Amino acid sequence: MSLVVIGSIALDNIETPFGKVEKVVGGAAPFACLAASYFFNKVKVVGIIGGDFPKSELTLWKEHNIDIEGLQIAEDRKNFFWSGKYHNDMNNRDTLETGLNVLEDFDPIIPAAYQDCEYLLLANLTPTTQQTAIDRLKTRPKLIVLDTMNFWMDIALDDLLATLKSVDVLTINDAEARQLSGEFSLVKAASKILQMGPKYLIIKKGEHGALLFGEDKIFSAPALPLANVFDPTGAGDTFAGGFIGYLAKVGTVNFSNMKNAVIFGSALASFCVEKFGTEKLKNLTQKEIAARVEEFVQLSSFQI
Ligand code: AMP
Repeated sequence: MSLVVIGSIALDNIETPFGKVEKVVGGAAPFACLAASYFFNKVKVVGIIGGDFPKSELTLWKEHNIDIEGLQIAEDRKNFFWSGKYHNDMNNRDTLETGLNVLEDFDPIIPAAYQDCEYLLLANLTPTTQQTAIDRLKTRPKLIVLDTMNFWMDIALDDLLATLKSVDVLTINDAEARQLSGEFSLVKAASKILQMGPKYLIIKKGEHGALLFGEDKIFSAPALPLANVFDPTGAGDTFAGGFIGYLAKVGTVNFSNMKNAVIFGSALASFCVEKFGTEKLKNLTQKEIAARVEEFVQLSSFQI
């Protein structure tokens, strides 16, 4: 039984009020795989990199037990590139450039050894590529989680709507939930989106936490008030990786376990934003993660 993650693998240029970095490793899959690896030791990645992607990163993934058989290397082509600039409040950012490069015609090949996939994370990527990954798995996974962004809503909405019909959980941020549903109220947005296919919806609200909708219930998770938010890039992908990694570890998918998964995903995301890129996700300990989760518990625990 394994957890397969398919998603973009990027080189990012990022500018936040605290600094600027160039060509750091980013993309949905690295954040998600590293986060999931803290809960589950059979994480397998499907993705593509170009010749300019640093090979040292692959060593790091192997150290985290991430299986890279599904990784394609296009030595003579350029890697997917993204550049973004955050506003002063860090909740909003502008995409300055998206260079699809190797992602433009990426054909996701699923190795035979990945057919044991029970948990599938379709991290941020072209909706048609996400759909192809589902179609190429001979047995439908027990849980399919899809993460996407406004970029795909803008340029490939019909494909996204088609893929949404095949997934169990959708994770998007509040602005994307409003864009997808055409509703301002997140409650109304959730009810519309849950009619598009997913049984569960997670709306991420940056420094204001996350909402989980499904089974006619709502769960609200806080975000930890952090003293040092350095770079929010990848927080959503880290959240999704932690979320599905935790569910793969416990092995039973229900609303109650999903509530805990949202907390574990949020805890991992809270680490991610403390440094640029994937830096902070490289060397966490289980003790640090447990202490961070306990902070979440204490933050919103009260009795009446
Ligand atoms: P997040 O902050 O969770 O939205 O994730 C940011 C990461 O998503 C960055 O590392 C980017 O490289 C990656 N990214 C940005 N735009 C896209 C896109 N259109 N498709 C896939 N990944 C993207």
